[in-house]
Amino acid sequence: MTSDYTRFATRAIHAGQKPDPATGAIMTPIYQTATYAQPSPGKFIEEFDYSRSANPTRTALEANLASLEGGRFGLCFGSGCAAMDCVLHLLSPGDHVILCDDVYGGTNRLFHRVYNTHGIEVSLVDLTDHDKAKATFTDRTKLVWLETPTNPMLKVVDIASMAELCKGGGTMLAVDNTFATPVLQNPLALGADIVCHSSTKYIGGHSDVVGGALITQDEALHDRLKFVQNSVGAVPGPMDCFLLLRSTKTIHVRVDRHCENAMQIAQHLENHARFTSVVYPGLPSHPQHAVATKQMSGFGGMITATMDGGLEDARSFLERLKVFTIAESLGGVESLIESPAIMTHAAVPTDQRATLGITDGLVRFSVGIEDVADLIEDIEQALG
Ligand SMILES: *Cc1c(COP(=O)(O)O)cnc(C)c1O
Repeated sequence: MTSDYTRFATRAIHAGQKPDPATGAIMTPIYQTATYAQPSPGKFIEEFDYSRSANPTRTALEANLASLEGGRFGLCFGSGCAAMDCVLHLLSPGDHVILCDDVYGGTNRLFHRVYNTHGIEVSLVDLTDHDKAKATFTDRTKLVWLETPTNPMLKVVDIASMAELCKGGGTMLAVDNTFATPVLQNPLALGADIVCHSSTKYIGGHSDVVGGALITQDEALHDRLKFVQNSVGAVPGPMDCFLLLRSTKTIHVRVDRHCENAMQIAQHLENHARFTSVVYPGLPSHPQHAVATKQMSGFGGMITATMDGGLEDARSFLERLKVFTIAESLGGVESLIESPAIMTHAAVPTDQRATLGITDGLVRFSVGIEDVADLIEDIEQALG
């Protein structure tokens, strides 16, 4: 179902979609139906027998996202966490997983507080350290799960070198590409087996849908995941699929502007005395700037920075902002800001937060696509 178009922007708008055969409607209709008429018992049109198994609006979105990641198969879910859960269902008791140490809080929770009771052993490792990563593999390691750039510290993991480590022992490599977006980074081309997205973020881009997706190249792997998707049933409704199809038509334009705005703000913050450190993969000062330059075509819209005065300083800065909104989540057209220590990563144990560098003064910016001059003025007035 992926399209013949070779260039990203054209695929974003057209892949997986064709005018509706019944009416010629340009937009894929919201097939708000649970079931489908069968001309004869057990005979149905294409794959459409029941909407948990398949729904045409979802099928179009799955093909569109597969195309954007350069993959052959896409599967969509009711949330990013449901997409991750689908992959974890492929594991068996006794299996070992290597998890990148700096991950989305919900990822950490799913591995450590849900799947731990199913006999899955997890090692948290800083995957920017190649030797440390290599030494963590055992003959039971079935899955490496990483994010890059990571949340919230924006560490950049070398996907191709992790894929190399996984190859020998039949370990699957899954990359959560939520922060990078399919516009800037395509993990399948770098050797990953599975790409995961929280489509709640940049894919949706308008903070109005919760969703998730998995994209793969290998048909046997896709079939196993699709079996779990249908068996567990954490599928998105057709309305949400429609909204996401509308969103992907502009993802390349949005993400370009997120990158431009974030670069200007990161440079501004880096020259600011009130911030002791600014982390943005596009800054030459970023420890993995070279890896980011190699595997990404742009550096994204996320920035983290540490304020010199700690939690109280961060709190009053956040409260004074007028254009940036204090909120969890990210990747929408509007600029958001948050304090990981008391918001998104409050559930991460204190000692682990300290190891990762999630200090009380840390603030995380999700830079939107407003006029960057207004964003910089807003930051200045809030610091003043
Ligand atoms: C938000 C997020 C998730 C979880 O997705 P939901 O849609 O909230 O379930 C997973 N990974 C990353 C990197 C995220 O930012």
